[in-house]
Amino acid sequence: MYVFTRTMHITDHALGAFVRNELSEDYRDQVEEHLSDCGYCRTQLGEVEQFITILGQSPSHQDFMLETAMTAA
Ligand SMILES: [Zn+2]
Repeated sequence: MYVFTRTMHITDHALGAFVRNELSEDYRDQVEEHLSDCGYCRTQLGEVEQFITILGQSPSHQDFMLETAMTAA
């Protein structure tokens, strides 16, 4: 699994896993460190949190919906 994109931002999947508390400690530290000085990823994180809150009742569709939403954005 990749935590950072080629442009050195956090991937949607990593942000989703971060919000759902599914990242290993190592990845979590990397994500938190990056978020502390990257406004772009903090904005992305906010959007991911919104989607996960909205879709909280259907975990099996979360990744698919998230990818669709992020691609369309
Ligand atoms: Zn970033």
